[in-house]
Amino acid sequence: MYSPRKTLTAPAAQDFGFPYTPYAIQEQLMQQLFLVLERKQIGIFESPTGTGKSLTLTCGALTWLRQHEQLVRAELLQRIGEVEAELCRLQAASAQAEDWITAQSNTRAQREELAQLQRLRELLQQKEQQLDQIKQRQKQQQRPARRAGELLLQAAAAPSAEDIATEPELNSDEDEEEADEHTDHALAEQPTEERFRDVQIFYCSRTHSQLAQIVTELRKTPHGQHARCIALGSRQQLCINAQVRRLPNLALINERCLDMAKAKASSHAIASKKASQSLSRCAHKAPAQLQKLSDAALSEPLDIEELAAAGAACGACPYYATRAAQAQAQLVLLPYSLLLQRSSRQQLGIDLRGAIIIVDEAHNLLDTIAQLHSSELSLGQLQLARQQLAAYKERYARRLSSANLLRLNQLLFVVRRLLQLLESSGEPRLLRTYQLSAEGDFYNIDLHALLQFCSRTRLAQKLHAFGLRLQREPQPSENRPPPTQQLLQRLAAQHQQCLTGGKRKQPAAKEPVTPQPQPKSSVVPSSAVPSPLRPFLAFLETLTSNAADGRVLLNPKTCTLKYLLLNPAEHFADIVSEARALIIAGGTMQPTHELTAQLFAHCPERVVQRFYSHVVPADAVQPFVLPTGPTGAKLCFNYAQRASPAMLQELSMVLQNLCGVLPAGVVCFLPSYDYLDTVYGHLEQSGALQRLGQRKRIFRETAGSGSGGVGGVEQLLQQYADAIGQNAGGALLLSVVGGKLSEGLNFADDLGRGVIVVGMPYPNRTAPELKERMRHLDETLGSGAGNEYYENLCMKAVNQCIGRSVRHIRDYACVYLLDERYASARIQQKLPAWIAQHITVASDGFGAVQARTARFFKARS
Ligand code: SF4
Repeated sequence: MYSPRKTLTAPAAQDFGFPYTPYAIQEQLMQQLFLVLERKQIGIFESPTGTGKSLTLTCGALTWLRQHEQLVRAELLQRIGEVEAELCRLQAASAQAEDWITAQSNTRAQREELAQLQRLRELLQQKEQQLDQIKQRQKQQQRPARRAGELLLQAAAAPSAEDIATEPELNSDEDEEEADEHTDHALAEQPTEERFRDVQIFYCSRTHSQLAQIVTELRKTPHGQHARCIALGSRQQLCINAQVRRLPNLALINERCLDMAKAKASSHAIASKKASQSLSRCAHKAPAQLQKLSDAALSEPLDIEELAAAGAACGACPYYATRAAQAQAQLVLLPYSLLLQRSSRQQLGIDLRGAIIIVDEAHNLLDTIAQLHSSELSLGQLQLARQQLAAYKERYARRLSSANLLRLNQLLFVVRRLLQLLESSGEPRLLRTYQLSAEGDFYNIDLHALLQFCSRTRLAQKLHAFGLRLQREPQPSENRPPPTQQLLQRLAAQHQQCLTGGKRKQPAAKEPVTPQPQPKSSVVPSSAVPSPLRPFLAFLETLTSNAADGRVLLNPKTCTLKYLLLNPAEHFADIVSEARALIIAGGTMQPTHELTAQLFAHCPERVVQRFYSHVVPADAVQPFVLPTGPTGAKLCFNYAQRASPAMLQELSMVLQNLCGVLPAGVVCFLPSYDYLDTVYGHLEQSGALQRLGQRKRIFRETAGSGSGGVGGVEQLLQQYADAIGQNAGGALLLSVVGGKLSEGLNFADDLGRGVIVVGMPYPNRTAPELKERMRHLDETLGSGAGNEYYENLCMKAVNQCIGRSVRHIRDYACVYLLDERYASARIQQKLPAWIAQHITVASDGFGAVQARTARFFKARS
């Protein structure tokens, strides 16, 4: 990689390839982003939802990249010319030198630099040739028939037990290499120093649909014509092998795919000979087909679904094609999980050195990192793991090598000891990882070696296959399956019970177990039950991490063991150090202090923070803080006061009065489902619900099945939207902060002319996890950091609620924050800039708020 000497300056708005004339804040964001990338900084950008943030970031980053690449090429060639001229001049001068050694030494530095530059030029030319070849090949090929591909993918049927690999014993696997994870087609990754490495942009967001939106927007820009963009996904999203796609979970899909690769790769090994009898190499991994799909993917931006369809149409595996193509891509789109986990990056061959990383929708980045690296294990999973391991050992004990038998016994020992801890009674406790292994009495077992053994022998997959194989064994009588099959059937049913909420302790069982027959109707197919060994191994993995970075919550009441990552920085440090520049962006990034304190404390000089206003005019949003209600009584919805009759009555009057002047849709967010029920009950009993109903149709979000699941939420929103259209007075939607409607949904225009946030939704401070996190922050960042985190959790949730409304430049709405605590300047600093700048604390009484609201909407009617 060549670092240019000249510095780029941010171009004018019209030179960013933006598809429309950018608004002022879009222009500012693109220019600031450009400078951050050029100066190798870390940018934290807040740009409200509805301001075209993703498109702005994409255009800004691709514009910088294009200019940077042009500069690198031009400077490299110019520098070679300069050094060659300098060398000639020195050689001529050295010819006059008296001895050969002096002559050589005079020109050594130039010769070395020239050799280095020439090598870089060679690599650059190789790369340009490769890209030309891709273009040429792509021109000759027909565009993949995507529709045909979609039909092919839809033809894949439901999971079937017959599709699961059969893989018997562990013997002979010990010396075997892990299945070849590397594709072998022509574009396969070259050693980094053997290719010219341009800067790559890795753009990650929460979901594939958000990434698909970026592809759609990219196509509208000039960048869409020439930028090489690749979307990365898992095999679950990209596999096109019908037999493999049918498998019920990602772990099984991964294993089967690797097995198929191994069928060819390791035919020398005894165990694999057996495997290869039942498995053949996947037909979709043919190099020529992969090449074709890679070329197509690099030639035009495709989202994950389009890639899968294109792969199905040409018979090439999109997972391996995109994996191979990503090294050539300028823009790589990927979900959080693939970027933020080191193991995923390694698996996909992602090299972040010198790269630009854009993390979008990053308002919960710290929590996301913590979640991705935490792990939970239930009693049911442990019981099932113990019983499967015991059954496996019972079947193969005499055929296992002593080394493998020892490892199996160690696994069983750890499982049993964890079970004993969970089956003990007592209060939830937080332990350091070494305390858990000491209490469990397995501190002297080398967990690293145990994990390596499981990985090398692919024990989890084999146990799963073992269970399925047993199911297919002939039954001795019509009515009674063989004992081991009964065991596995019972275990599968037990596990399913655990998954569906029956998490109470199962009676402890001794191994080997003599199972009771189960009625056939209650048996859950094992193929649909994930291997219990996987969560167990994931949990063991966390026990090998740095003891200071996390805690284990041992909770006999919920029968769970949970590893909590307390130090996200540990898992983000290599991203910060390797990347050239990092962009952390979101619609509501405030408050950002804990983000900078936890992730960037060691490099504060690199951090640039910008909080952009909304694209709407300043008078299109009217935010109020209501410290008092219509009677003049103070509004304080803390836990102690919020359910008091006086507070409920005051809230009831606020809602009635505001709904009297707010047109169309009003969304009211309450701190919890319980409190929503309390408020609803009060409105009902006091007759206020009826009075409200005469003005607006009333809807409420419920924690249970009423609006549960995506379908339930969609149905509720549809009814709410219909009511706004049909009822002259509009509708009121009672919702919950942090509930199903508070993130990711769009209450634009008439769906959200008013947003009311009732109280400050602080989480339960006594929860062991939260307490430990706060204590850890106090210890590591200083006294008060825990409280700051606690308050920030609350304010981030509030900001998400506020961000549901005002979604585009012609939108407008009023926002009401009901609680005297919002009047504090400290709290207001944690609101989004576009709200905080215009907020009015209604100190002159509720009547004035009502009057201003009426005027606000009259001016827009
Ligand atoms: S190579 Fe691709 S298509 Fe074949 S099984 Fe693996 S992921 Fe699926």
